[in-house]
Amino acid sequence: MTIQENLQEIRQSLQKFDNPPTLIAVSKTKPNEAVQEAYDAGQRIFGENYVQELCDKVPALPRDIEWHFIGHLQSNKSNMIAKLANDNYKIVVQTLDSAKLADKLNSQLKVKLDVMVEVHTSTESSKSGCSPSEVLALVDHIKSLPNLNFIGLMTIGDPNDPRSCFKQMKDLQEQTKGSLSMGMSGDYKEAVEFGTNFVRIGTAIFGHREYKK
Ligand SMILES: *Cc1c(COP(=O)(O)O)cnc(C)c1O
Repeated sequence: MTIQENLQEIRQSLQKFDNPPTLIAVSKTKPNEAVQEAYDAGQRIFGENYVQELCDKVPALPRDIEWHFIGHLQSNKSNMIAKLANDNYKIVVQTLDSAKLADKLNSQLKVKLDVMVEVHTSTESSKSGCSPSEVLALVDHIKSLPNLNFIGLMTIGDPNDPRSCFKQMKDLQEQTKGSLSMGMSGDYKEAVEFGTNFVRIGTAIFGHREYKK
């Protein structure tokens, strides 16, 4: 199957739901040609996990792409994200997980940046994100910062029990009033059942990833 065919199949499966979510095509580790192929098939929103890879791709690909940063953001790299936003590329950061990181990004920005808070809903200790009990305080803090625009909450579901993660997110959303970003190739249908606004799909569009050592 080609990227175009994969995209078509996923779009069709999303259209079957009452409130179809926005599809983010996760292109991490994939070459620019693969992004361009998806773009040529009509895709305009892409997700990336690594700051340097994002910085390499953004200027090389069409300017009307909206890029969602979905990887762990180290505070020493927030300036690179801020620069892209300041250069007027369309950037969304989905993975803010501390007030300190929010403050740093806010101070580096000259424009308003759309951001989401990453919530750690999984029982896996390796996953990043702020704990559910800290979400409201962090969202309030972000809303007080002039250069950050809070748009919602993001999570990576526990592969063994995505539904309980998505349920927690739904409850948090009622209190924070933003969008939800949840669901990947393996669990996006469950996420849509819980009313997600964005799904982040990589493998089912671009095929398996090879990680360089
Ligand atoms: C890699 C990644 C995805 C996409 O995962 P697939 O299983 O390839 O669809 C989605 N969200 C995040 C945060 C990721 O790191």
